[in-house]
Amino acid sequence: MMTSFLETGLQPEIIKAITDLGFEIPMPVQAEVIPLLLASDRDLVALAQTGTGKTAAFGLPLIQQADCNDRATQTIILAPTRELCVQIADDLIDYSKYIPALKILPVYGGASIDQQIRALKKGVQIIVATPGRMLDLIRRGQINIRNIKNVVLDEADEMLNMGFKEELDGILAETPTEKRIMLFSATMSPEINNIARGYMNNPAEIVIGFRNASAENVRHHYYMVSARDRYLALKRIADLHPNIFAIIFCRTRQETREVADKLIKDGYNADALHGDLSQTQRDHVMQRFRIKHIQMLVATDVAARGLDVDDLTHVIQYNLPDEPEIYTHRSGRTGRAGKNGISAVIIHSREQNRIREIERKLKIKFEFNKVPSGREICEKQLFHFIQKMENVEVDHSQIESFLPQVLKKLEWLSREDIIKQFVALEFNRFLDYYKNAPDLNVHELKPARFEKAERGPRRAANAESGFERYFINIGRMDDIKPTTIIGLLNEYTRNRSMRIGRIELKEKCSFFEVESGFLKQITAAFKNAEFKGRQIVVSEATAKDNEDSDGGYSRKPSRNKFKSDFSGPPKRRKK
Ligand code: AMP
Repeated sequence: MMTSFLETGLQPEIIKAITDLGFEIPMPVQAEVIPLLLASDRDLVALAQTGTGKTAAFGLPLIQQADCNDRATQTIILAPTRELCVQIADDLIDYSKYIPALKILPVYGGASIDQQIRALKKGVQIIVATPGRMLDLIRRGQINIRNIKNVVLDEADEMLNMGFKEELDGILAETPTEKRIMLFSATMSPEINNIARGYMNNPAEIVIGFRNASAENVRHHYYMVSARDRYLALKRIADLHPNIFAIIFCRTRQETREVADKLIKDGYNADALHGDLSQTQRDHVMQRFRIKHIQMLVATDVAARGLDVDDLTHVIQYNLPDEPEIYTHRSGRTGRAGKNGISAVIIHSREQNRIREIERKLKIKFEFNKVPSGREICEKQLFHFIQKMENVEVDHSQIESFLPQVLKKLEWLSREDIIKQFVALEFNRFLDYYKNAPDLNVHELKPARFEKAERGPRRAANAESGFERYFINIGRMDDIKPTTIIGLLNEYTRNRSMRIGRIELKEKCSFFEVESGFLKQITAAFKNAEFKGRQIVVSEATAKDNEDSDGGYSRKPSRNKFKSDFSGPPKRRKK
């Protein structure tokens, strides 16, 4: 194991700068990559996540190899987001603080291009850029990369996920044949392989980060609840960890907003980060999170990409991600820089297979965790409060002057009563909230009794556990396919995060299942909806619907006041 940066071959000015930053021992990716990049100009593919020290791994050799007497651009570093660009540039500026002639500049979309052009004109040896802005500046003739020596593709998988393939092709087409490409990615997908094969020349391959960053410091937990109890489960996880500092990943902007709004309303220190916010708003939220004014940041994957925070206690996934690779990115945000972290997923019972799939693909192991009971939470919070009380600094000189009056006032209470009164003062709301709180856990083999109580007696008996069954008044005779129904759900609810279960097409009508908890949203969304000019009727399916579905059809009068007419013209629902 390499125990000192002196062994890497880095020059003293750089070692002095990183020593100032507290870097003592090279991280594994640095121990492998720095000597390799210093010794040869071979291309490199490195599988390494953020948090493994990869910025210094490529940044330090590139700083050392830069020719400060030449003002021409020698290195471009491409990264998926503005925040990552700024962070990489800031890091490189720190690493090169004793090499003042070296100029490093971040350029990215969403900021004034004129200002960036003015800065570029002064001569910049290392440019850190988002792909879109880089291509724009090249096309405007403001950046010339025809003679560059190095291209770094950082978080290459993210750049491809974000749809930057064309920009990357466009930029690489402008580079000379003789250059070195260094590609860093958390995952090795076929698309990354294509880039490696298409643009690189016999690259050295290094795998770091997956195992050491993920498996060692991150514990993977899953909680299993009914879909509609996700939010309550989230709250309980937060309540069990009074010092939680977490990102909560949601799938859509809407869900992100909703979860954050509920948390704020319930008194948590939370906020939302998603693409509907302006750049200034996003910067503001991220800054408040970094300085821990926000304890729980509810975010979409895309919006959270640029956020780099080292000491998260938890990453909580409100929904399972669609791809195991996204799980890697999410969970890799905790357990960084030698600290421990928890990556927790809230799932419903039908998603256990997907947990197993992630385990298989990522070679990790999930622990099944029970959603804590009200009592466990109260106990934890109480001791947290008491510990805070024990540790609070007392300004004796100030307080003592009031003490005689206070003691006199409390004379009638015993020591035990005083403690009870103080605890109750702080704690009554908590105890009240969790009094009689139900068990939220869905167990792997759910007893029939429990299932019935949870789904309620009105639900059609044959929906899958965790799902609700809906009736829709279009069927095979309307020439529809299951995908038609999925399309209508997407179109009218605009909620792609809800999971759709079985779809059953009958002749004149159909049934579909959606994970529990969306009844109100779905029925409201389909109010006034149309299909081929006909009014669509969607409502919760009853057992009677099932019986009636292939013959005539009848609806519960209380839920649906008008009669649908399959053969006649559309009828508008009266307001
Ligand atoms: P990165 O993966 O480049 O984002 O780095 C993750 C974090 O580790 C950053 O906060 C770096 O400043 C820090 N870091 C990088 N290399 C070292 C090192 N050798 N010793 C201590 N901290 C480091």
